[in-house]
Amino acid sequence: LPPPYLRPTWIDVDLDLVRINVLNLKKYIGDNVHLMAVVKANAYGYGIMEIARTSLSAGATWIGVATLDEALVLRREIAKHIPILVLGYVPVEHLSRASEANVTITGISLEWLQEADQAIEQPVDFHLKIDTGMNRLGCRTEDEVKKVIDIVSRNPKLRFTGAFTHFATSEDLTNRTYFLRQLNRFKQFLEIIPNRSEKLIHCSNSGATLYHDEKPFYNMVRCGKALTGPPNEPLKAFLPIKLQSVISLHSVLSLVKEVEAGEKIGYADTYTTTKKQWIGTVPIGYGDGWHQNLKPTGVLVEGQRMEIVGRISMDQLMVALDHEYPVGTRVTFIGQQGNMTITGDEVASAAKIPRSEVFSAISSRVPRIYK
Ligand code: PLP
Repeated sequence: LPPPYLRPTWIDVDLDLVRINVLNLKKYIGDNVHLMAVVKANAYGYGIMEIARTSLSAGATWIGVATLDEALVLRREIAKHIPILVLGYVPVEHLSRASEANVTITGISLEWLQEADQAIEQPVDFHLKIDTGMNRLGCRTEDEVKKVIDIVSRNPKLRFTGAFTHFATSEDLTNRTYFLRQLNRFKQFLEIIPNRSEKLIHCSNSGATLYHDEKPFYNMVRCGKALTGPPNEPLKAFLPIKLQSVISLHSVLSLVKEVEAGEKIGYADTYTTTKKQWIGTVPIGYGDGWHQNLKPTGVLVEGQRMEIVGRISMDQLMVALDHEYPVGTRVTFIGQQGNMTITGDEVASAAKIPRSEVFSAISSRVPRIYK
């Protein structure tokens, strides 16, 4: 939707805080390590252009995305000369598009490289993904990596400019066994990679960058989450730098009424009033990404926590109010009102999903207002 947005439901994003987070991250990793700002999926819902632009201006030197489409838009709009890595799958038939836009892509498997070897027309840079235990993308054995090395030594159009892996459990500090196993595996793989000092070597996401004494930065770290806020409570205590939450989500009361006891609220039979009850209607629903599982944390109205009642509709939901409030009163889903705050992490924990999943699901119908 083009602005102006005429429905009063919106996200505030504080780009100054993004800038400070990035500056703090940069300081922590040091001058010799590149910071890749991972801005896939619309920068986890925060806005790909704004988060990328702000991160770059604060010291990020690479951009990471999931798809070639994301890379091409960034290349066209803001990152004319900034290196971009597509972390996900690029079908071999689109190699020339990556090459023309000077976008680095990921060699996701031996099979992918064998196919690329046959199909490639113009030179393209790629980073080789090594699967050390995530079991998602990457070469899984040293034998596979040796075969890749053989292919690229014969085909100069396949420019092997980096190697990386991805951790499955970097935010689990209670049991670091799997993390360390992956790190050791990565080190073993690196032994067989030729001209290593000329390549970009990277393995750390936000968790691996921030919470482990090993500091496995190599010459680049790839941070997504850390650009936009601190982690969950138990982990927060181990944060070596200050990170601030940059986002809040708000709407307003569109209608307020008192209903009798025994009335059903919303679709289906999920909530019936047991007494006379003030009910407020709020113009946000699962069509905006506010799904049924995000109900438990409720909302803030004039600094008080209120319950979301009944089934959330596509465009609206209802809240149980403790008394009558004027239409237009602000309703906060994530953020602060007075002394009360609902954090994204609180919403995510109550819904038993990762924080990034809450924000990346907030649909494009909800405008992001930047300040
Ligand atoms: N690297 C890869 C390969 C990823 O898939 C992701 C995101 O999932 C990241 C880095 C960034 O992770 P985080 O948001 O935990 O920093």
